Amino acid sequence: MGELKLQHYHHYIIRAKWIFPVLSPPILDGAVEIKNKKIVNVGKFKEISKEAVFAKPIDFEEAVILPALVNAHTHLELSGLRFRVSPSSGDFISWVKNVIKLKQEMSLIEIRESAKLGLYHLWKDGTGIIGDVGNTAITFDLLYNSPFYGYFFQEVISFKGGYNLKEIQLKAPSSNFRITYSAHAPYSVSPLLLQAIKSYNKKRKKLFCIHCAESYEEVKFLKKGEGPLLEFLKERGQWDENFIPPGVSPVKYLHNLKLLDEDTLLIHVIHIDEEDLEILKKTRSKICICLRSNLFIGVGIPKLKELLSAGLDVCIGTDSLASNDHLSVWEEMKTIYTYYPDISPGEILKMATFTGAKVFGFNKMGAILAGYYPNMLVVEIRDYLNERPEDVLRSLINAGKEVKFRFYV
Ligand SMILES: [Zn+2]
Repeated sequence: MGELKLQHYHHYIIRAKWIFPVLSPPILDGAVEIKNKKIVNVGKFKEISKEAVFAKPIDFEEAVILPALVNAHTHLELSGLRFRVSPSSGDFISWVKNVIKLKQEMSLIEIRESAKLGLYHLWKDGTGIIGDVGNTAITFDLLYNSPFYGYFFQEVISFKGGYNLKEIQLKAPSSNFRITYSAHAPYSVSPLLLQAIKSYNKKRKKLFCIHCAESYEEVKFLKKGEGPLLEFLKERGQWDENFIPPGVSPVKYLHNLKLLDEDTLLIHVIHIDEEDLEILKKTRSKICICLRSNLFIGVGIPKLKELLSAGLDVCIGTDSLASNDHLSVWEEMKTIYTYYPDISPGEILKMATFTGAKVFGFNKMGAILAGYYPNMLVVEIRDYLNERPEDVLRSLINAGKEVKFRFYV
C-alpha cells in the first residue's frame, strides 16, 4: 500500500472512477482537490480540473476513494490473545475468566509486540481513527507515535471502591490523541466511582465510555442482584455487601445515575427494551456496536435497525482480538450487512466513517467534503465496477478489495 502524508504546500487533484463522499451521493468519474492539507473541492473530474489548473493530478483510474475508517472500540493490549480464546456459545463469565487468565500469562513484550502488529493491520486495512481501551498504558506510546487519530481510554475496574482517580499525567505531544478514564461496565465499577469517572470527563470535556448491556448475566445481576456475575465478583474479592441491586436494566441503571448524555459512548447495547430505547433517544447517548465480538461470545446481537431508526449515532468497533479474529472494520461492515440486510450499504459505510469521527469529536473527518481533512483511502475492488452507485457500494462492503493507497494529515 502506498501512502502520502499531506503537507501545507501540496496541491493535488486526485481522480478515481468513484468518489464516495459519504454525506452526499457517490460521484462517477470524480475528483478531490486538496490544498494546504484541506479538501477544497469535490465533484466531477471534468469540472474540477478546469478550475484547478495548477494542481498536480494523480489518477487512480478504476478505483474508489472514500474517507478512512473508524474502529471505535478495541483493546490493543489484548491483541496477543488472537486465536487463543475459543468462541463461546453464550457463557459470558467463562469467556471473561479465560481472558483474565490468558492475559496474566502474557509477558509485557508479548503484549507490546502484538499490539504493534494490531496497529499495523489497522493501518493497512484503512483505519484512521481508533478508540482504544487499556488497563495498562502499554499501548499508549505506540498510539501517540502513530499516524492515527483517536482516544485512549484508561479503563477503571473496581466494584468495591477504593480507586483513586488521579489527574492523568500522560500528555499528548500532538492533538491527534485524547486520553481519559473510562469505566469497564455497570457490574464491575461501583456506582459512586461510575459517577466520579463521568464527572472527571465532564469537567475536561471528554467522552465517557463504558461497556453496557452486553450479556444476560449483566441484566440478571442488575435486575435481581444474583447469578454468575455475583459469584464472579465474590470469587475476585470485589463484591460489596452494601450494594443494593437497582432492579432495572443496564441502560436504566446508568440513566438513574445520571451518566447518560451526548458525551457518553455505550459499547455493545444488546439487551434493551422499548423504555431503554426511549432513554437512549432522550439522552442522545452515543453507541458503538461490535457485532463480530458479540457473535464470538454468543451474547446476542444489537437491535441495530431500531437504534438507527431512533436517530441515534451508532458507530462500529471490533472489540479486542480476544473476541474477534480481525481488527478490520471491513469485516464488521460485511457481517453487519449479512445480519441486517435491510440496512443499506451506504448507511453502514456512514457508521464506519462519519459517525465514528463525530462520536469522538473529530468534526472535520469521516467525510469527503470541502473544508474537511483529506484522510482518505483509495480502494481497488476486484468486482467489475459498473455504473450503478448502489452496486459499487454493495461490492465495497462485501467483495474482495484492497486499500491501494492512503492520504492522511
Ligand atoms: Zn471492549
